[in-house]
Amino acid sequence: MITLNNTVIAEDKAYNMQVYSPEEIIFKQADGMYLIDDQGKKYLDFSAQFSACSLGHNNKELIDAISSQMKKIVSVTSMFVTQERVQLAKTLTDLAPYGLTKVLMGCTGSDANEFALKTAKYYKGGGKIISFWRGFHGSTAGSAAATGKSETIQENPHIAELLPRGFLHTSPPYCYRCDFGKNPHHCELQCLKYLEQQILNDSSNNVAAIITEPVFAAGGVIVPPNGYLKELRRICDRFNALLIFDEVVTGIGRTGAMFACEHWEVIPDILVTGKALTGGYVPGSAVITTKEIGDVMDKLTLHGHTHSFYPLMCTAASKNLEIIQRDGLVENSRIVGAYLNKRLKELQTKYDVIGDVRGMGLLQGFELVKNKKTKQANFELGDMLFKEMLKKGLVTELESRKNLNNVVIVLHPPLITSKKDVDRCIQIIDASIEACSTNIH
Ligand code: PLP
Repeated sequence: MITLNNTVIAEDKAYNMQVYSPEEIIFKQADGMYLIDDQGKKYLDFSAQFSACSLGHNNKELIDAISSQMKKIVSVTSMFVTQERVQLAKTLTDLAPYGLTKVLMGCTGSDANEFALKTAKYYKGGGKIISFWRGFHGSTAGSAAATGKSETIQENPHIAELLPRGFLHTSPPYCYRCDFGKNPHHCELQCLKYLEQQILNDSSNNVAAIITEPVFAAGGVIVPPNGYLKELRRICDRFNALLIFDEVVTGIGRTGAMFACEHWEVIPDILVTGKALTGGYVPGSAVITTKEIGDVMDKLTLHGHTHSFYPLMCTAASKNLEIIQRDGLVENSRIVGAYLNKRLKELQTKYDVIGDVRGMGLLQGFELVKNKKTKQANFELGDMLFKEMLKKGLVTELESRKNLNNVVIVLHPPLITSKKDVDRCIQIIDASIEACSTNIH
């Protein structure tokens, strides 16, 4: 007999492109930390719409602010000024690192990164863009070209024809699997020495910008060693290149600071934010830069989108930021994130298949290996564990890439997560690894 559930899944397959290989679960409702499926089963949400849903689900205050904005004014061509966009720009520039005082608002992380790259090229009058293997910057042409995951978009020769030229990728600060075989305690940042040499070896030496996530999210929660971002800043300054921080995931409190770059006191020339900017309730993103750079970009037209500076997004973002600050959610991210890291490390001592635990604030990940000695990536376990955790009522994110030789379960729950939620999450992970271990050997 075909149940309603099976019909919807079959119709989804028939009518929607299956680009994310969706799981066969239909979520119908959500509240706080939980997603609820069509059978009434509750799932603890440690994925938060890929990091976007910062206030948790069904936040009444945010919903009220969005709905009253809808009744006031929604559609305005972006060439007109609204109070909402002024308010958000003022808030964002107050919160951003010192000197970043001009804003462009967009719809997604991809289009914001696209604009940041255009800005660098235009402001610098050309030059290469340097980015990192394992970094992720989006799905539009420029942001995909900067992406260093060597995913199908870059591997497929026909799609690759769409990608612009002039991008150079380099080694990430992935200390667990260092490209140079170094021990992070004695590496002297070999990866950045290599990067500097790469630039010197290039006859033109002309670099428009270096773009990086301060903490790589989709690449497997890669946290740079201390001193790394300061050194990257120095390299940018040496070659007169702009430094772009893609804080689409790490921004808005995710790592236990409003912006992750604050942890290392490094200020970029351009900072990009998205996802959690609006609490994930409506699409939205922003590029924040200096007055000098922003003023140059003033002269360009046709670089926005129909929904750039969209009043609804501005209101959602302003309200979201107000709640985050009022309720101390950045601090909560830092404290509860540290607790999550500690609890994951306990699991690491228990299981030989957890090779590494990494993260900052409520952006944490654990890397799955066959065993700690060989560090061989355990793809089979990754797939099984992700499904087992779902079965037991925990939503996580699986980052599994054969060509990059790593599989990481990423945990980035809403910023309202409590230690009790963490305990429940750890309980499910523990029971799920236990369940998978009996099948995996
Ligand atoms: N930058 C980073 C670091 C991301 O993780 C993502 C998406 O996951 C993007 C940019 C692209 O954002 P969007 O999916 O909103 O286009």
